[in-house]
Amino acid sequence: MNEIDTKILSPDAVGLTVAAELLSGGGLVAFPTETVYGLGVDARNSDAVARLYAAKGRPSFNPLIVHVETLAVAETLVEFDEDALRLASAFWPGALTLVLPLKDGAGISPLVTAGLDTLAVRVPDHALAQSLLAAYGGPIAAPSANPSGQVSPTSFAHVRDQMVGRIDGIVEGGTCGVGLESTIVATRPVPTLLRAGGLPSEAIEAALGQELAQAGDAAAPNSPGQLASHYAPKGDVRLNAVDVRVGETLLGFGAVEAAINLSASGDLVEAAANLFNALHQLNALGAEKIAVSPIPEHGLGRAINDRLRRAAAPR
Ligand code: AMP
Ligand code: MG
Repeated sequence: MNEIDTKILSPDAVGLTVAAELLSGGGLVAFPTETVYGLGVDARNSDAVARLYAAKGRPSFNPLIVHVETLAVAETLVEFDEDALRLASAFWPGALTLVLPLKDGAGISPLVTAGLDTLAVRVPDHALAQSLLAAYGGPIAAPSANPSGQVSPTSFAHVRDQMVGRIDGIVEGGTCGVGLESTIVATRPVPTLLRAGGLPSEAIEAALGQELAQAGDAAAPNSPGQLASHYAPKGDVRLNAVDVRVGETLLGFGAVEAAINLSASGDLVEAAANLFNALHQLNALGAEKIAVSPIPEHGLGRAINDRLRRAAAPR
């Protein structure tokens, strides 16, 4: 990847205005929250989300947490049940992420949800994060602001040392108070702890008046990795297809004649941004046999191939 000129942004109205402008333009901006520094992008912009995966060097498309200013904004994106409302009232703003059914027309990029029909949302309890959300006025998807496989950053220096040259801006805030990722809970079919984090699960259980199921329990929702296979296309998938056989629909990459092309110009960022829509389109077309053009195994190609290999795995 080419080096990007990373702007260091002051933690005041001037810096946050520039941060919001960068986000509007599809830019990547790191900012402090009370848990860890997040690497933010507009959650509605698939190209921006694809660039975020590239900047982190993530080898797979894990769903991302979307940060919003208030519960009221969250309610425009996801469906709240009674338990979810209770938890949001008790712990927001704070280090709790709720995984809830995505509303139709919420406008969130399918790269953010990794094609799932649920969305992880959180209202951060940090003055600068709140001010940035207010200045921007839109949902910000933000995983931790570190290269994949490295430790989550809890200070400005961590982010600067790891991300300068890879992202558009860093808001120079202080140290993160909690210093641990958020606790993630899904409330349906039963309240379930998906990830332990900064908010102790005992506090959540006390607010709910019941114990949390653990991810992996029989009644609990599947972990996202397992869920992902449910969202594989319905047809059989053949990878690295250099020809198209009778009855196959081609999911193309590069200069090929295809029913759907991830990127005719062979651009991996464009291909990543199109991936989940393409998988949905294949179902809409009723494709029973799907051939997929070879996709190079570097940069975002690794995450795209990881996803396609899951789609091709025997079910
Ligand atoms: P990070 O943004 O790096 O802190 O990681 C986000 C975490 O949230 C990952 O562990 C995801 O698996 C989890 N997550 C995000 N969205 C969902 C979802 N829709 N269902 C289940 N887990 C999710
Ligand atoms: Mg992380």
